[in-house]
Amino acid sequence: MITVKHLQKAYHNPDGSTFTVLKDINCEIGPGEVISIIGPSGTGKSTFLRALNLLDPPTGGEILFGGENILARKYPVHKLRLRMGMVFQSFNLFEHMTVLENVMYAPVTILKKGKDAARSEALALLRKVGMAEKADVLPSSLSGGQKQRVAIARCLAMNPEAILFDEPTSALDPTMVGEVLSVMRQLAKEGMTMLIVTHEMKFARDVSTRIFFMYDGYIHEDGTPDQIFNNPRRSATKAFVQRIRKEVFEVDTDNFDFLGMETSINRFCIKYNIAGKSDSALSLIRMLLPVCMETGHRLTIRITYSELSEEASLDFMLEGADPSTLQAPYTSTRVEWKKAEALCQRTVEETTSRGYRVKFIL
Ligand code: ADP
Repeated sequence: MITVKHLQKAYHNPDGSTFTVLKDINCEIGPGEVISIIGPSGTGKSTFLRALNLLDPPTGGEILFGGENILARKYPVHKLRLRMGMVFQSFNLFEHMTVLENVMYAPVTILKKGKDAARSEALALLRKVGMAEKADVLPSSLSGGQKQRVAIARCLAMNPEAILFDEPTSALDPTMVGEVLSVMRQLAKEGMTMLIVTHEMKFARDVSTRIFFMYDGYIHEDGTPDQIFNNPRRSATKAFVQRIRKEVFEVDTDNFDFLGMETSINRFCIKYNIAGKSDSALSLIRMLLPVCMETGHRLTIRITYSELSEEASLDFMLEGADPSTLQAPYTSTRVEWKKAEALCQRTVEETTSRGYRVKFIL
């Protein structure tokens, strides 16, 4: 359906130098494929999507869509946009139109559909994305997740052959990410051809037929979700997919900002969509901090989250300590420890060259 050969995109800086974002992109995308484009920020993922539907026309190479060269001088861009929809991070709804009018607008004005037919199709699409109840309200009264679902319905109203999603959940409050992803999952199941720039690793692994890992202006690795996430061939891919998010707190004096740490842990949990874990993390800290401080060893608390395994943990590292440190003579310790274990799934104890670490899997 889409063939890309030696695609390049360069920007010209004011000082006359050029900055090549897309260096040499080559790929083939078949009908019904769901391709997630992942990779570090700034590696050209959005630029690639925007090049595909000519929002940011490329500066070199070829794009064939259904066999037609869309970079040919006379190729009608509006025709391409009819066939290839795009969903943006920032929704881009028409704020002065109701939800229903947003979805009907292009079919009526561009496809010249009759109003009645357009209205009933728009309502059916709104029902599909769970937004029919809001048909008559203005977008300003909707949450981010609802706006994005309307934006998807608006895109579907043009009956596109493929849809490009540019970080569709990045601007959303974490509680709303799920509702948008489930609409996208449904579309994928129905066989829609989709290219999705996303940071949602689990979603990418579950719904995609293929993953493009972009790095430094190239598709650095292209493979099935199993290959990219479980057996990446290249080291940059491996480093990216196995990365672990973490935040570390060195609790070195009594003057340590405990409230600041609590706020940071809450924020961390919200950011990685594990808000349900923050209560147990904070209870563990409140329970074990006095016990750890009592030992006199320097303490480091670390919260980690692996996007791929979706495992969150909180660990307490006592520098220069060993397993005996937390046993006698601190009689209260064992009681506290048992209570703490009840707050997590399991614990892992480890003695390292730095000291003794107890990790609570949240
Ligand atoms: P990603 O989506 O992977 O985070 P982008 O495609 O958004 O990356 O951007 C890749 C690089 O191109 C970035 O360094 C960005 O600053 C640069 N870039 C994007 N758009 C422009 C532009 N209009 N002018 C100059 N540089 C740009």
